[in-house]
Formats: sequence, C-alpha cells, structure tokens
Amino acid sequence: MPRKLRSLVVLVVAFGALVAAAASRQGGRPEPAPATGRLPILGDGSPRFWKGNLHTHSLWSDGDDFPEMIADWYRRHGYHFLAMTDHNVMAEGERWLNVAGKNSRAAALKNYLARFGSAWVEQRVEKGKDQVRLKPLAEYRSLLEEPGKFLMVPGEEITTRFVKAPVHVNAINLRNAIQPTPGDSVAETIRANYRAVADQRKETGRPMLAFLNHPNFGWGVKAEDIALAQEVRFFEVHNGHPGVRNYGDETHASCERIWDIVLAQRLGQHKLPVIYGLGTDDAHRYHEWGPGKVNPGRSWIMVRAPYLSAEAIVRAIEAGDFYTSTGVTLRDVRRAGDQLTVSIRAEPGVKYRTQFVATARTASLRSEPRLDAKGKPLNVTRVYSPEVGKVVAEVEGPEATYRLTGKELYVRAKVLSTRPHPNPYQKGDMEVAWTQPVVP
Ligand SMILES: [Zn+2]
Ligand SMILES: [Zn+2]
Repeated sequence: MPRKLRSLVVLVVAFGALVAAAASRQGGRPEPAPATGRLPILGDGSPRFWKGNLHTHSLWSDGDDFPEMIADWYRRHGYHFLAMTDHNVMAEGERWLNVAGKNSRAAALKNYLARFGSAWVEQRVEKGKDQVRLKPLAEYRSLLEEPGKFLMVPGEEITTRFVKAPVHVNAINLRNAIQPTPGDSVAETIRANYRAVADQRKETGRPMLAFLNHPNFGWGVKAEDIALAQEVRFFEVHNGHPGVRNYGDETHASCERIWDIVLAQRLGQHKLPVIYGLGTDDAHRYHEWGPGKVNPGRSWIMVRAPYLSAEAIVRAIEAGDFYTSTGVTLRDVRRAGDQLTVSIRAEPGVKYRTQFVATARTASLRSEPRLDAKGKPLNVTRVYSPEVGKVVAEVEGPEATYRLTGKELYVRAKVLSTRPHPNPYQKGDMEVAWTQPVVP
C-alpha cells in the first residue's frame, strides 16, 4: 500500500473508534463498578483441606442414579469436589434412557423429578417408549457447582483386563474420553493406559491425574506389577465397593500390605518414586443403603490446596499433599526437619491411636512365592519379611509425632479410631485415616 493511502486508512479507523467511544459514553450504558478486594473463594491464600471423592458411577455406565442426584448427595454431605468416573465413557453427548414402568430407573426418575422438577428433567416418548434424557456434565454442573464450595471434575474409569485380570485406571480432569489400550502383561496394561492419560495431558496442557483402582478386585493386580509400573504414582488403598477385597485373605496381601511392598521395592530396589494411597467410594447404588451395598460415603481424600479448582486439586495430589480417610479428620500433617507430626481433630468420646509404619533400609527385600496346598507357586503377591511395612511406633491421643532416624526407606502414618463407621465397607470397620509416605 502506498504510504499516503496507508495514513488515510489509519485516520479513518482512528476516527471510527473515536465516534464509537463517544456513542457508548452518550448511550448511558453503565460501566461495571471497579473490582475491589479479593474474591471470597481465594480467602487469605493459605491452603486448607478440601474433601473429595474421585471414583463414582452414574447411569452413564452401571451406576443406578442420575448424575445430578449423586452430585447433590455429595454436596449435601460435606464434600467439596467430586469426579463421576463411568466405565470407558465421559458424560457428554446426547443420551436417552428407556424408563419402563417397573425397572429401577422408574423409581430413580421419581426421585429425580421430585428433587429437580419437570422443567429440568427432560422426558419424551420415542417409538412408544418412555424416555428420560441423561444430562451431560457440561450442562448439569452449572446447577450444582458453587465457587469455593463445590466442584465437579471430569473423569473416567478406563476399564480393561489382561487375560482374566481386571485393570481399571481412573483418569481425572480429562478432556476427552480414552478407550482402553491393551498390553502384554498386567504391568504393561497399566502402563499403556497411564501413557494414554499422559499423552492427553501433554496435548491439552491440562493437569490430569491417573490412579490405579482396587488392585485386589478379581485379584487382578499384584504388588510386583505396581512396583514395576513406574508411571503409577497413585493407587486406591481403600475403595468402598464391598466386592474389591481391600483386606486380602489368607493367600492374598491386603491393599495396605501391597502399599508397603511397593514402597519398599521402589525405594530400596528399583530407585523409583513413592506411590501415594487414595480412598474412594466407587459407589454404584443409591437407593438401598447399608453394609454390603455399593454406597457412597465410605472413604475419601482430604486435599490441601489454596483454592478449589481442578488444577489446584490435581497439583496438590501430585505433590502428595493429601490424606485418605474413612471418618477421621486431621487438623494437620506436617514434616518439619526430622519430625513427622499428625494432629487429629478429636471427636468427643472417641479414642485415637496413631501407628507409624516404616521399612528400614536394612530390611530384607527378599521374597518367596506363596504356595498352594500341593506346593505349587500361586500367581499372587509374594511373601516378604515382616520387616517390610512394620509398625515402628504407636502413639495414643490427638497428637502424634515420629522422629525420623534416617534409617527408614519411608515412613507413613495410620490413625485408628474407636468410632464405628456409620456405613462401613465391611461390618465392624472403625473409622481410620492414612497419611502419605515421607522419605527421610
Ligand atoms: Zn473398577
Ligand atoms: Zn469403579
């Protein structure tokens, strides 16, 4: 463009902008008030604990209630964040469900209508069948979320198996659903699906989390599989589904035992980082309640973050700044120099005992196969020394401190209480809390 013409264009554009600005002033449209102070959700910027559950099922897969009803349950029960993690699907797109007169959905629909009203609940008749629309997260979250109070985090349970061994990996803060990737062993199947989450994270630049679910479900995953699956940084040490065998049996290690074996192997042998333990509900059933039913409210995580956003929660979990609970609330867990201190928010009439669990650097990490009645090795977690995951100190009362000697591979704490869980994973369970392992 010749220079003269260019100056003319600049002049005309500038004049246009001036006229527009004047018009907007004269138009009397009020300017928004200038922002002052900080938004209340940011508080004073100091971190606090947020309660959340990152494993739940809805009618988007095999759960038996509408996602809004489930989210509403969690919101009313003091949770701050929730991920709905249906099997190999995210809550998006258009989905209509048939509601026959006598199926369980009809009862769910009745409650759904009573709670949310006919203006919200969408129904239609299609080819003579009564249908109700399953709302996507993008739509229903607006109804339930509240800044600084309640947050929905997108998620999925990537659900697959290697031969007969179930391999389920929860992916949190996903953008797009991930279809399961096969692998040529249990460990490789876990790793392949972890890598799929890592790839999406890289592609989107969005913090995401993957954790290995219920290792003892179907006796699918052994400690040795997790120890070697180096991408795995998190697993479920306690899952509320009564079918997942958290406590193991005579031939199978409990999830807590698996945790110690993995920690000892990784830190003592493989030079790999620690693995953190999460508690989740894995709830599927919302209409009948009690032990043996797959209900919400059994175990959760408390995450320390400055504010409530998916990114802040994911980053704090990645930093290990959270604990797992089935009912015990902690004021604080802190490491100061060589001291690890757990402060409990004590409830009246309840007694507390804190166990510090460690594996010493000098502990033998040798193992033997577990044998069946005929002396044949079983395909289960191997047998390790009782020095792996040993209780090295026990403290009664609301505050417990352990002084690290530097001879430990790691130390973690478990708080046991005398209060029975109101709707336990297993009959007779008392409320407990687990803190994350620290390395001297
Ligand atoms: Zn599962
Ligand atoms: Zn599940």
